[in-house]
Amino acid sequence: MKERYKTKKIYVGDVAVGGDAPITVQSMTYSNTSDIEATVEQIKRLHFAGCDIVRVAVPNMQSAVALKAIREQISIPLVADIHFNYKLALEAAKWVDCIRVNPGNIGEKGRIKEIVKACQERSLPIRIGVNSGSLEAEFENKYGATAQGMVASAEYNIKFLEDLGFTDIKISLKASDVDRTVDAYRMLRPKNNYPFHLGVTEAGTIFHATVKSAIGLGTLLLDGIGDTLRVSITGELEEEIKVGKAIIKDSGRVKEGLNIISCPTCGRIEADLVSAVAEVEKRTAHIKTPMDVSVMGCVVNAIGEAKHADVAIAYGKGSGLVMVQGEVVAKLPEGELVDRFVAEVEAFAQKQG
Ligand code: SF4
Repeated sequence: MKERYKTKKIYVGDVAVGGDAPITVQSMTYSNTSDIEATVEQIKRLHFAGCDIVRVAVPNMQSAVALKAIREQISIPLVADIHFNYKLALEAAKWVDCIRVNPGNIGEKGRIKEIVKACQERSLPIRIGVNSGSLEAEFENKYGATAQGMVASAEYNIKFLEDLGFTDIKISLKASDVDRTVDAYRMLRPKNNYPFHLGVTEAGTIFHATVKSAIGLGTLLLDGIGDTLRVSITGELEEEIKVGKAIIKDSGRVKEGLNIISCPTCGRIEADLVSAVAEVEKRTAHIKTPMDVSVMGCVVNAIGEAKHADVAIAYGKGSGLVMVQGEVVAKLPEGELVDRFVAEVEAFAQKQG
């Protein structure tokens, strides 16, 4: 895994993005933002699920005005997502922690200047959100909706903000396919040190969105690219957070909680491993201490995996072994193995502090 790019650290409210800050997970509500009650309810759900930064669409002045009441009822950094109408950004800037604009559809540069001024006055960062589906005409005509076109648009807009003395910027370069998304981020990364917000946009339902995001965002994270991310799912809010956190963890960018190694089972198995692993996952979800554990169906690979695991179960016929750092600590009937395993995991976590 490559070293993470050293990006500039900016703040969205009290959450740092970039630099040595942990990679954060973002999401977006789907309520009509002018429906204050529904929007607050969704933001709270996201916050509870572990979301770090939440974004709301601001499609009209009613929604922009509603941000004041929303802000008062939440305690998570809030980003206003603005398209087309710069006046919405000017109103939203009074109540939020960051403005996301797609400069390609804000139009005339004087309007972007006004947004920059409003953000400067309140020390708000701006996310330049380039989307392959809405490039400025000049880049669309020259490059088409390609990674090159996305990068050209981002560079143009970065320069525009820099020329106004504005550098609290983060950048996203989203396309609806993995290939263009990865290419665009890779191309732009060496050209500046602004933090990157990763995402494959409009990625589909949970199954495909998870696969596309794992490939795209995982590839970039392994390249050392990415400071914050959103997994875009046509589905429930909490799923985006769950998948986003899993991508960061399983890419190895964060060491936190259990890394569960479990076998896919086969004709040799003589225990209910699927239920056992599900139970282990549920009962250890609260543990933050990084550790490797293995839950394996038979002796073929169980002993080998257990040697490298902090805590392990090796199932056999009707019974099995619990091991801690390669040493057998108990031989128990099948029904007692998970209880003992969880107890050993908790003890190991406590020992690590
Ligand atoms: S560990 Fe045993 S049960 Fe699991 S897949 Fe390997 S051989 Fe099959």
